[in-house]
Amino acid sequence: MHSTPSASGPAISLENLSRHYGAIKAVDNVSLEIAAGSFVALVGLSGSGKSTLLKMINRLVDPTAGEVSIAGENIEATDSHILRRRIGYVFQNIGLFPHMTISRNIAIGLELAGEKDGRQERVAELLELVELPQDMASRMPPQLSGGQQQRVGVARALATRPGLMLMDEPFGALDPVTRDSLAGQYKALHEKLGLTTIIVTHDMAEALYLADRILVMEDGQIKADATPAELLSGKVGGEAEALVAIPRAQAAHLIALSKKA
Ligand code: ADP
Ligand code: MG
Repeated sequence: MHSTPSASGPAISLENLSRHYGAIKAVDNVSLEIAAGSFVALVGLSGSGKSTLLKMINRLVDPTAGEVSIAGENIEATDSHILRRRIGYVFQNIGLFPHMTISRNIAIGLELAGEKDGRQERVAELLELVELPQDMASRMPPQLSGGQQQRVGVARALATRPGLMLMDEPFGALDPVTRDSLAGQYKALHEKLGLTTIIVTHDMAEALYLADRILVMEDGQIKADATPAELLSGKVGGEAEALVAIPRAQAAHLIALSKKA
């Protein structure tokens, strides 16, 4: 059995990156350096350009201007099959193939890459990694809960041992309890595997809890770039402060209620 390497996720560089759709500037001239091993949250209102930015990193969307480098290599110059193996992608609607077993869903990236040896062992290892029982391997996706399905989504994304994980509202469709526990477990995985992770979320509380760096997007641009501590200190201002104000007010409300009880 392969042991999981203590991989070090790559650094990422975006240079004057844009994606315009006619007059709509989905992403507008974004330049950004992301350090190897970071956990970055991309936060912003619906339509601010988060998904488009993420999809330009794994070439699901082509930029209209600018470039992306991963570990110093321009992604345009990288074979797209190799690129996909190096990048795990998890999105909200999970996208498991309903007519395939969990095992095959997890191994699909390995199958597509023509990797024949040790697939079963790798599936067993991944199930353990995402804390699912081994007997799930032979089940079909509709027999799993939403949280279990999303664990399978994470396992599938990790199958080819990527150093970079791109996650687009990965826990957004789950109930709050499942969501919190899955987010916490993913954070531990990020650290254990030494990944670089970029997570899109519209939930500032989740971003504050998970990430070591938070980027706030608005109208295709990054309007704030701060640590959770900086955001919580209230010094950042603008749209970022409006987003932080929501979990802050909820926390204050709960504390006030608990004092009355
Ligand atoms: P977010 O993920 O922050 O909600 P998106 O990146 O999905 O935002 O979208 C940013 C903007 O780009 C939105 O105005 C959206 O309507 C527009 N957009 C995204 N994809 C397309 C597309 N394929 N064609 C036209 N407009 C698009
Ligand atoms: Mg989106």
